[in-house]
Amino acid sequence: MYCFQSDGIDRRVASPSWHSLSLLLVACATPAGAQSSPAASSLETRITEAAQTLGQDRRFAEIAPPGNLGLVEFVGGNVLFALAHEMGHVAMTELGLTVLGREEDAADGFATLLGLKMGNAFALGVLENTAAGWFLSDQRNRSNGIHLAFFDQHGLDQQRAYNIVCLMVGSDIEKFRSLANRVGMPEARQQSCAGDYSNASWSWNKALEPHRRGPETPQTKINIIYEPGGPNAELEAVFRHLRMLESVADYASSQFAWRAELSLEMQTCGSPDAGWYPEIRKVIVCYELAADFAQLYLEYGDKQRPPPPFAWKRLN
Ligand SMILES: [Zn+2]
Repeated sequence: MYCFQSDGIDRRVASPSWHSLSLLLVACATPAGAQSSPAASSLETRITEAAQTLGQDRRFAEIAPPGNLGLVEFVGGNVLFALAHEMGHVAMTELGLTVLGREEDAADGFATLLGLKMGNAFALGVLENTAAGWFLSDQRNRSNGIHLAFFDQHGLDQQRAYNIVCLMVGSDIEKFRSLANRVGMPEARQQSCAGDYSNASWSWNKALEPHRRGPETPQTKINIIYEPGGPNAELEAVFRHLRMLESVADYASSQFAWRAELSLEMQTCGSPDAGWYPEIRKVIVCYELAADFAQLYLEYGDKQRPPPPFAWKRLN
């Protein structure tokens, strides 16, 4: 599950998370450094078009296109990270990986390392937007008087944000020092994050290596389902246009030898969440999660910020 940390109740209400997710997944299939590949260019075009579509949703019309690109990137990035997080759960359960520590932390690590491995501006923007999302979620909870849930299976919102930044700065302190400074991470912690990154990177590589798909192994079928969006019809149209689920499925089926067919699905759930349900072999991402990210951005985000990377500021 991907719940926002709060008082133990899932309060993720309809966040918009389509644009960055799709980009991240496309980035997954794009070699690091290939920032202007045809696929990326095509995706950028789809993002611009998606911003137009999202502008048709009266809830999110406050920022008209093309100024709502930041909104689109925020929502897309957070949804893409959520989907990658769920694929981390899929990997742990389907591949029978040893899980040392909290599974939710490991799933966040899986998604973060994936973005860092891609390494291009889009993937790094997804990570920054996701860290920003956790900071903003924390700010919203405090504004609403929601107490911290220390018992939750997930880390606290700010911890999840700092863990992402820690792996980033741990992978390359020169590249990400300004980001770490901007979110108030002390220099000593920035230095020690190298150990966090080394452990996480080495461990995930070690765990996944036996399950990487060889050229002789056929790809496992991963089904794609976009259920009708209903009240979130514009979000459904956006994610369909971005081909976000398709991008993730293509990456997952090409990279790993899964033991059986599975499905990626977006649907109207009644609450803002995402999850891996092994009993029905589905990863489900709720349109409400994307809508909630959009609301979070509109209510607490910096609407004047430039596009990522390094585009957001921490709000106190
Ligand atoms: Zn989870």
